[in-house]
Amino acid sequence: MDIMTRKMLYSKEEIDQRVRELADRISRDYEGREILVVGILKGAFVFLADLIRCISVPCEVDFTRLASYGAGTVSSGNIVITKNIECSIKGRDVLIVEDIIDTGLTLSYLVERLKEEEPRSVRVCAFIDKIKRREIPFVADYVGFTMDDGFVVGYGLDADEKGRSLPDIYIIEE
Ligand code: 5GP
Repeated sequence: MDIMTRKMLYSKEEIDQRVRELADRISRDYEGREILVVGILKGAFVFLADLIRCISVPCEVDFTRLASYGAGTVSSGNIVITKNIECSIKGRDVLIVEDIIDTGLTLSYLVERLKEEEPRSVRVCAFIDKIKRREIPFVADYVGFTMDDGFVVGYGLDADEKGRSLPDIYIIEE
């Protein structure tokens, strides 16, 4: 995949505006509470950094990383956690921050795993939702943008580790 053949999808200005809107909703929904924000590495780190700086309630931050194995993932059995969170989530309000929801397998697996540790609540905030590509039903609580098809880079998202540092979001042209 060649990141040079790209077209801008969302500019930094559009992203900033949307991130502020999401953060305002989150701040209202969690008023008087403290959020444990769990970012999914690596793609979500830029979005998370922007989001938490616009959220007005106190945020603690931790990270996790997952990997999926095997082609044509048909069950969440193919997902493994390669880096676990390092704090206890029991009784906490957990907000998972993800870059993109595609098949839904990664987040379904993670949410179920985290719920086993009896948090007070678990919600998901995704920067981009590819709703039509779901292999299992999964609904996020907060979504920045939705898209149907295409592969995007920039704003933390990579293509073979390239393009993460681009400030805007680009769609790769085949
Ligand atoms: P899924 O929902 O299929 O379990 O996994 C979603 C993950 O697939 C995302 O966290 C991201 O790593 C990757 N992904 C899906 N679509 C794209 C895309 O358009 N661009 C990039 N860079 N990663 C994607």
